[in-house]
Amino acid sequence: MKCFLCQSSNVAQKYIYGPGTFSQESKEYFQNVKILTCDDCQISFCENIRRENLDKYYEKTQKKIQEVSNRFKEFNSRFFTQVLYFINHANLKKDINVLEVGPNNLGILPTLKIFQKKIKYYYFDQVELKHDHKEIFKLGNYFSPENKNLPMVDLIWMSHSLEHIFPDDLIKVLSSFYKALNKNGKIFIEIPNDIKMKTFNVPHTLFFNKKSLAKLFGQLNFKIIAYSEINSSEEYNMENRSIKENKDSSSKIPLINKIYLFLQKFLPDYFVKKFAFKNFVLNGPYTNLPIIRLIVEKKDL
Ligand SMILES: [Zn+2]
Repeated sequence: MKCFLCQSSNVAQKYIYGPGTFSQESKEYFQNVKILTCDDCQISFCENIRRENLDKYYEKTQKKIQEVSNRFKEFNSRFFTQVLYFINHANLKKDINVLEVGPNNLGILPTLKIFQKKIKYYYFDQVELKHDHKEIFKLGNYFSPENKNLPMVDLIWMSHSLEHIFPDDLIKVLSSFYKALNKNGKIFIEIPNDIKMKTFNVPHTLFFNKKSLAKLFGQLNFKIIAYSEINSSEEYNMENRSIKENKDSSSKIPLINKIYLFLQKFLPDYFVKKFAFKNFVLNGPYTNLPIIRLIVEKKDL
């Protein structure tokens, strides 16, 4: 077995998959899946996952994910901090074409619209987005690397999607993104820092660190213009992780917030804004889990 990224033969099993969130579906579709790690470029990847099983898994688990019902969802702190991160490191042009890979039932569009008047927005997902926006185009359920008819875009948004790509397709997928990007086009990426957390769960098929990300994007003629490991300081440990996760659990929404979520549907914007901002826009990071954020830019050949 060779490393698909750097062709080295120094690959070995270093990490083992855990049960994952949907343990029943995981058992059904991902029996005996194995992670290999390359000693040279340090990428870790699932060696024996099957594409059709991944598709079936997503189809089944998608039905279990709840819809976001809150207004002012553009201020969801995950998306809001991502856009702030992006404009802190790169410029947004006036009119942009954006492609998002896997927005799920929300995605980056509502938040980008705060900063950006004109957006032509394309996406791939099983979900049908219902945003109130004129130029929104679903390109398919999944991005297939054989798909050569991508529109030309300025920005590709990959929030928690890079780690889900079928490993054999990774180079092909990113190469076609490269071709679809206009001059100086950029990709925003956020992934969980699974290596740091030592959590290896399906359906994640790829596990990165700084070295493997640099290798991957360097090889594909991108330059990294921003890179951050968030919540990754050495004091981080499993103990304080579980405390903070419990606190953030959405199953414990206080009653007053539940009442708000119901009433907001009928109230005018100015009336609910203040309450919404106080209670739903967290003053602080959206997660305490280690994540990696990076922005890469297309280099001219
Ligand atoms: Zn390698």
